[in-house]
Amino acid sequence: MKDLKPRTRAIHSGSKRSQWGEMSEAMFLTQGFVYDSAEQAEARFEKSGDDEFIYARYGNPTVRMFEDRIAGLLGYEDCFACASGMSAVSGALCALLKAGDHVVASRALFGSCLYVLQDILARFGVEITMIDGRDNAAWDAAIRDDTRLVFFESISNPTLEVVDMRHIVKAAHKVGALVLADDAMATPVYSYARDCGADIAIISTTKHVDGQGRMLGGAICGARDLIRGPVEAYMKHTGGAMNPFAAWTHLKALETMDLRVRAQSAGAMDLANALSQHPKITNVRYPTHDAHPQQTLALSQAPSGGTVLAFEVAGGKDACFKFLNALEIIKISNNFADAKSIVTHPATTTHQRLPQDQKDILGISDSLVRLSAGLEDSDDLIADILQALKVI
Ligand SMILES: *Cc1c(COP(=O)(O)O)cnc(C)c1O
Repeated sequence: MKDLKPRTRAIHSGSKRSQWGEMSEAMFLTQGFVYDSAEQAEARFEKSGDDEFIYARYGNPTVRMFEDRIAGLLGYEDCFACASGMSAVSGALCALLKAGDHVVASRALFGSCLYVLQDILARFGVEITMIDGRDNAAWDAAIRDDTRLVFFESISNPTLEVVDMRHIVKAAHKVGALVLADDAMATPVYSYARDCGADIAIISTTKHVDGQGRMLGGAICGARDLIRGPVEAYMKHTGGAMNPFAAWTHLKALETMDLRVRAQSAGAMDLANALSQHPKITNVRYPTHDAHPQQTLALSQAPSGGTVLAFEVAGGKDACFKFLNALEIIKISNNFADAKSIVTHPATTTHQRLPQDQKDILGISDSLVRLSAGLEDSDDLIADILQALKVI
């Protein structure tokens, strides 16, 4: 499967058929596996081969097919599939860090990622340095000889900041530090983590892989020795594995993901274009749009900025709430990458608990709105936005 293009890999990688020769991937809803003999059970616990399973918390045939497919799609050797994106983020970090280690992270992180780093890992004696991820000199200054790992979102949620991944990878690898990219917003279709040399890409498959707002899932992708070494050991003993039903729906969803993500990304650009002309809107942020201060960097890494944009509505929280409440097609919710368009007011929802000074640093103002473009016709979405803006 090595030389195939990603679109082909998203349909076929990792497929294995049972003795029935089924066309679509089978859903193995089983937590356990039967052994022919006690000797076989003993041998399997000693060392399981590729198609040998013990217990679904360790691995399951449907989950395994999904792991192979997503690893192939992102260009990594292997993958461990997880119960959610956060199970993947926290699992990868806990698997690879110990007390006394030093971590450098971009401060523009998803709220739950901030909690894992600043509350949990700090509590276990990991030293964290948070920096402005857009500033290459800040990475150079913060990465030390004893830095064990660096962490960032390739595109940050919800402010759509971009990091110069090649620069960070070079600086980290110079001191032997591992690079972990939270790749949720970049989308698996336009992901550049592998090309830029990130050691591990973590994705919330809840987002573009499921893409229809139904399933939770996550994936940790990287070199086989990392994934089947410390990552698998940590995940299988702490219970963060993906369940086979989620893996089966993800396999099904991957068949259409490329089409969905391309259409939704084009829709996000349409919305960014329409909004950047509007007098009541400022600060439209979409990575590959002309108005984004890091457009050149974004375009040097990927041809598209993904399916999400953000902007500010003049008039602060009151105006934002009036705008959100007046939308008819676009729903108020907090997921993104759903086929249905979603609007979020981060300051009062996903980032409600963040102290004001941190909100200020990250640019999460009371005027900020995040918009996830769905699969509806862009003309209808733009008309919905324009009529809602009239209410303010
Ligand atoms: C959604 C998200 C997560 C968490 O994923 P879940 O599947 O909701 O657990 C982590 N990081 C980023 C950047 C996300 O957008």
